[in-house]
Amino acid sequence: MALHFHNTLSRRDEEFVPLRGQEVRLYTCGPTVYDYAHIGNFRTYVWEDLLRRYLRHRGFQVVQVMNLTDVDDKTIANARESGQTLADYTRTYIDAFFEDVAALGMERAEHYPRATAYIPQMARLIRRLRDTGHVYESRGSLYFRISTFPAYGRLSLVNPEAAAGQARIDSDEYEKDNPRDFAVWKATRDDEPSWDTEIGRGRPGWHIECSAMSMELLGETFDIHTGGVDNIFPHHENEIAQSEAATGKPFVRYWMHAAHLIVDGEKMSKSKGNFFTLRDLAARGHDMRVIRYMLSSVHYRKPLNFTFEGLNQAAAALGRLDDLALRLEAVEPGLTRDGGDLVARTREALRGMTDALDADLNTAGALGHLFDFVRETHSAVDAGAFGRKDLEAAREVMSAFETIFGIRPGQRAALDAEIEALIASRARARTQRDFADADRIRDELLRRGIVLEDTPQGVRWKRK
Ligand SMILES: [Zn+2]
Repeated sequence: MALHFHNTLSRRDEEFVPLRGQEVRLYTCGPTVYDYAHIGNFRTYVWEDLLRRYLRHRGFQVVQVMNLTDVDDKTIANARESGQTLADYTRTYIDAFFEDVAALGMERAEHYPRATAYIPQMARLIRRLRDTGHVYESRGSLYFRISTFPAYGRLSLVNPEAAAGQARIDSDEYEKDNPRDFAVWKATRDDEPSWDTEIGRGRPGWHIECSAMSMELLGETFDIHTGGVDNIFPHHENEIAQSEAATGKPFVRYWMHAAHLIVDGEKMSKSKGNFFTLRDLAARGHDMRVIRYMLSSVHYRKPLNFTFEGLNQAAAALGRLDDLALRLEAVEPGLTRDGGDLVARTREALRGMTDALDADLNTAGALGHLFDFVRETHSAVDAGAFGRKDLEAAREVMSAFETIFGIRPGQRAALDAEIEALIASRARARTQRDFADADRIRDELLRRGIVLEDTPQGVRWKRK
């Protein structure tokens, strides 16, 4: 089966064929480093990591660019509030972002350009647009004139005339000829960071950052551009307008967008108390592997409803896979016979996983095939009908899962040691008659799905 992706631009599933041989040039809109990224952001980043991993699994070479937006209205406002320079302020969140990337087992992109390191390229692109009449000046700021780009709205299907009726297209407006137009370059204000460039002193608008950095690092036409659905309008629509107006070439061949993450059926918001960063979940004792699994378990174009119940279910599913991996390590295939058609069915499961992922990265479908395999293999091992060939085939499935989903099955030992340590400190608390502390630890373990049982032989524990 050929690899297919749903292209937001054509609204169809299209066979994926890169422009240059086996090389895939991929641009993924990265974080605005004004705060910690939240789990909704990571839903998109983990999906993009899976996309990258799957392309590599399918034999492509991937050149991925993920930008770091380290200058925009929010970063400037927060830096000012904290009394730090923009560079010092954003450094904290850039470091935090890479810690989170590592914690989730994401592969590193080939390039992480910071916007502030590409100001001359942005100015050059804007100059090109000004020289060809797509950009005009108003009070020192430069705006893209949407009426000069007739294809505007093709990606988002936003009608530019209707959009003009909406109060705001761009959040930071100065003065424009037409409300639909958007800022590509902002006039210097006294207290804001600004740069001297060939188009004067000022700072870039957010949209131009991605156009300039993507074309600089990947070329004027590249293969895939991704982001969350909330990036489609105006961000990606504006990127297309700026890039194609400047080059006269198609900017991106496949546009792909991940749906929202909601929490308990509601939009995540700090005021509702349902807003979580990765760090919040880690502080509650949740395992990054489980979070990664949960974020990948729903097809990327479907909204993902995050709940703690769902996280527990993900832990249970991953636990079954971990159990199997540990069993396979211990199994002595020489002592048992090959299990009839088990090899064939294992291969079938692997093909099922690949077929599902070939069909627009249907991760839920792929995991369905994986767990058919997990169930059948557990029973074959139980029945002693599991031989050397079965083991080889099973290891292929495990390793494909690890490569594509970025989670190593059976890596639970570290976690078990942590649980043992918590149980030991609870025992200590009880000896010291600190029952409040002992209860706190028991609740903490319960939250992790660990049930304790006091027996005459000591404390036993099991997973719920
Ligand atoms: Zn972007």
